Amino acid sequence: MIEVTFNHFFAIYLTITIVAILLIWLMGHSQKKNKIIFTTEKELQHCEFCHYSYVENSSDSLSRCPQCHLYNKHHSS
Ligand SMILES: [Zn+2]
Repeated sequence: MIEVTFNHFFAIYLTITIVAILLIWLMGHSQKKNKIIFTTEKELQHCEFCHYSYVENSSDSLSRCPQCHLYNKHHSS
């Protein structure tokens, strides 16, 4: 009877520990999900004249290169 009680206690202890670890992991996972920054408005542009890469608003059809100040067409669709 004593062994069964100890086994039961050990099983409950293990279950609680595993559930606690799972909850902590899930909480951390959901927090990481919320931290994702949506960068749909801005896109990486590549200047065809001086090959300079810069971030520009994707809604504009033309973007100005900050390096050579020439206008580039918005390539990505
Ligand atoms: Zn340029």
